[in-house]
Amino acid sequence: MPNYHIWTIGCQMNKAESERLASCFEELGYQATDTAAEADLIVLNSCVVRQSAENRIINKLHNLKQLKKSQPGMVIAVTGCLVNSEIDRLKKSFPHVDHFFKPGDYPPWLEKTGTPPLPHHPSPSVYVPVIQGCDNFCSYCIVPYRRGRERSRTIPEITCEVRELVQRGAQEVTLLGQNVDSYGHDLPDRPDLAALLTGLNNINGLARLRFLTNHPKDMSTRLIEATAGLDKVCEQISLPVQSGSNDILEAMRRGYTVEQYRRLITRIRQQIPGVALSTDIIVGFPSESDGQFQQTADLLSEIKFDTVHVAAYSPRTGTMAAREFEDNIPLTEKRERLNKVEQLQEKIAAEINGRLLGKPVEILVEGKTTDKWHGRTRTGKLVFFSNENNCLGRLMKIRIDRTSPWSLQGEIEANNSEEGK
Ligand code: SF4
Repeated sequence: MPNYHIWTIGCQMNKAESERLASCFEELGYQATDTAAEADLIVLNSCVVRQSAENRIINKLHNLKQLKKSQPGMVIAVTGCLVNSEIDRLKKSFPHVDHFFKPGDYPPWLEKTGTPPLPHHPSPSVYVPVIQGCDNFCSYCIVPYRRGRERSRTIPEITCEVRELVQRGAQEVTLLGQNVDSYGHDLPDRPDLAALLTGLNNINGLARLRFLTNHPKDMSTRLIEATAGLDKVCEQISLPVQSGSNDILEAMRRGYTVEQYRRLITRIRQQIPGVALSTDIIVGFPSESDGQFQQTADLLSEIKFDTVHVAAYSPRTGTMAAREFEDNIPLTEKRERLNKVEQLQEKIAAEINGRLLGKPVEILVEGKTTDKWHGRTRTGKLVFFSNENNCLGRLMKIRIDRTSPWSLQGEIEANNSEEGK
């Protein structure tokens, strides 16, 4: 039996894509291997959001040159954000690569397996890409140049795929897009994400729905109402703010002000009680002053997000920010700001999670690491518990007896069904 090896870096979009590719290869009679040297078919699923990620993939490609020389029959394919419209240029630079294909565009040699290629044994919680690309052109971001303009999949196609995944065992679906709030605007009848969620909410056997990643300027009232009103849509919203300074937001070309963002958060909290909020922050953007950084820290203290993902700015060749702004915040200062955000958020998350001590929560069990099962609440909190039985894929009530800023631990509630005891 021939072997395949997939190497994936980057976001959930890439992970979802790689899962689908794996099932295609298995359909074609291939078997997975962790070792590239043992593979007959190697796929690199690339990310280029940061220059360091692009460098990793370029290094990997150079290393594979030798392998291909010693095993000329080996097939090498590259997908992900590295593969932009300049495929001919890539072919010239890496002649040992047999195929380049854009994310979501399956090459003809894979299409004979039939679309959509789905995992045969999906995990209880799966990702489903619903829109590719981004039209926003934030000044620091390379994604629109590499993933191209927004392209939505149709509601019937997505519904059919989610039904199939549920039949195969999935219970929770996270709809993915670089800007998922833009879903549908490019389709003939212009459906929106609220309409998509409303349709999917009717699928029998599906327990939960989530969606990622939102853009503050595109998050509609209809979407907030759908999240509040549909029983399967989880109370968890990720809403990257990036900075608490209007001047920096303008330089980032984000398309909203801090005041507009604040009002949006207030509306979400009013309409979706108990909602968990997460955000993304970039510190050390060109010319970010101490005062502007402090505005970001103040916003975090004020809103109190459940989770904050923080990154230090690094210029990305090909973006407007890299062209027009000098990267003038020293690395030590960027690191200091990053640490300050992490320390602040650690305190906030400890306080939020601490409120769950002694309370029961419902989780969907997603897996087991060493001796503990783990799963997530509807609000996305990671919960660990011990049990000797197979709990995978079960919705279980856990009473929380330990909390930390990052996760919770607990014991199964007595009123769970027999097999979980
Ligand atoms: S919304 Fe902005 S940061 Fe997000 S993918 Fe699009 S351009 Fe990049």
